[in-house]
Amino acid sequence: MKMPPFKLHMPTSIDEAIEIAKQMHSKEEEFDWVAGGTDLLPNYKWHLNSKKNVISLAKISQLTELSKTHIGAMVRLQDLADSELTHPVLAKSANSIASIMIRRSGTVGGNICLDTRCYWYNQTEDWRESIEWCHKCDCGTGADCRVIPNQNTLCVATYQADLAPVLMCMGARVHLISISGKREMLLNDFFELDGMKKNKLLPGELLTHITIPKETLQWEGDYQKLRQRESWDFPEAGVAVLWKKEGEKLKQLRVATTGLESIPGYHEDISSELVKDWNGNESIKILSEQIRKAVKPVQNTWYTPSYRRKMVKVLTKRACKGLLGE
Ligand SMILES: Cc1cc2nc3c(=O)[nH]c(=O)nc-3n(C[C@H](O)[C@H](O)[C@H](O)COP(=O)(O)OP(=O)(O)OC[C@H]3O[C@@H](n4cnc5c(N)ncnc54)[C@H](O)[C@@H]3O)c2cc1C
Ligand code: SF4
Repeated sequence: MKMPPFKLHMPTSIDEAIEIAKQMHSKEEEFDWVAGGTDLLPNYKWHLNSKKNVISLAKISQLTELSKTHIGAMVRLQDLADSELTHPVLAKSANSIASIMIRRSGTVGGNICLDTRCYWYNQTEDWRESIEWCHKCDCGTGADCRVIPNQNTLCVATYQADLAPVLMCMGARVHLISISGKREMLLNDFFELDGMKKNKLLPGELLTHITIPKETLQWEGDYQKLRQRESWDFPEAGVAVLWKKEGEKLKQLRVATTGLESIPGYHEDISSELVKDWNGNESIKILSEQIRKAVKPVQNTWYTPSYRRKMVKVLTKRACKGLLGE
């Protein structure tokens, strides 16, 4: 597994990074941003859609700011997990990512922008050649999707990152910059239901930071995850539940999921409807069944779609335990 050659650029400021991106754009050269490299570089070694140029964010100190309401894209996952400034549910999800070594290199921006995964794709080049490739990296062959055949437009590879569902429940916003200027949007609107495009980033656009509204910092909640090996595996399913109570009365409830489709799911319609007549355990049973029905996993990760859906119900119930004072 030899790393394909690429030119590495090391800007020291956001302006310099965007200037390099501009030069690439004018020369019609493609590039990737690299943050911690814990996902991009293994993918490069497997010759998965590698580019001739890579721009590293490692020397841009502006991207490492961390406060209760501001998380820079280059904040390391372990720093996020360890910080007293981090909401406890966000810290829990960060601490569940991969292993400590990966969390010390991996970053928040890389986790949000993580490539989607599929067991027909995250394989060595020899392995993929032996099955004559697939649509996401077809090496010019026009190969079909192996999960949903006879259509060469959609890739249903799975988004398997842990931070997004918690941040979505917190109402986080992503802040982006490109040669066309700055923009921001709710994280809930950032993802795109296409395993190849993945999100709304324009070519060469950079995620600089995430902001969290002060209001949700006081909310309680939980994050529950299913994975094969607790030591480091990607989520086969993940459920975040956040809520706000006034006294004993539940005022707000948000649920988001990951590891089940090409994008994380935000289930506000289901949760806001149930809050109106909330009835403790009975409502949790209805909520977990409705979340199970709402998710649509496909057969492209380790566990079967039916098991992952069953477990979503279990994980939702577990994540709601705090609502019962348990
Ligand atoms: C063995 C193993 C287990 C893992 N387990 C988990 C897990 O349990 N949960 C989980 O969530 N992840 C897991 N991961 C995936 C990954 O390591 C983490 O998600 C990590 O957060 C990725 O961050 P990074 O900085 O290394 O990203 P990189 O690899 O540097 O980049 C990832 C992608 O994001 C893009 N990117 C990075 N930063 C930016 C930015 N600021 N703006 C725009 N695009 C950007 C890159 O171009 C690339 O496409 C695992 C990885 C491994 C190898
Ligand atoms: S979902 Fe289909 S196109 Fe996408 S990576 Fe898997 S096999 Fe390839």
